[in-house]
Amino acid sequence: MSCIFCDIINGIEKAEILFEDESTISFLDIRPLNFGHSLVIPKKHYENFYNVDIEDLNSVIKATQFLTNAIKTSLNPEGINIISNNGSSAGQTIYHFHFHIIPRFKNDHFTFRPQFKDYTEGLMKEFADKIRIAINTQRDD
Ligand code: AMP
Ligand code: ZN
Repeated sequence: MSCIFCDIINGIEKAEILFEDESTISFLDIRPLNFGHSLVIPKKHYENFYNVDIEDLNSVIKATQFLTNAIKTSLNPEGINIISNNGSSAGQTIYHFHFHIIPRFKNDHFTFRPQFKDYTEGLMKEFADKIRIAINTQRDD
């Protein structure tokens, strides 16, 4: 199965690489929401966030914080979003897990306009219960 991010790791595909260590690599997103928009990925191929080994996840989150601070210092954005899209409904297009680091400015026209929902009576607890049951099941695994 071909993967463009694995190709970047293996030097087959060109990228503007920013930072690399034993288990992660970071590079500029080719289609930035703002200039400096960057991606951080584990060198090991995982499709998405769900099953990333904890050691790799630690390394990725550490590299993400390191690079976020470098972007903050060098580009002086007013804010920064850290985003992970998982599944096509969530906007995932490349199935090699990655964090986006997106520099933000007040009038950059990148808008999330969510339609917030209202919990009806009892529904909030119902959802919390469903999640708590899964948490307890996962704990027992
Ligand atoms: P996502 O939609 O969360 O899966 O994000 C995938 C991101 O990868 C998109 O923002 C793309 O612009 C970016 N992308 C795709 N191909 C490349 C590439 N060859 N080099 C750098 N970024 C890429
Ligand atoms: Zn890959």
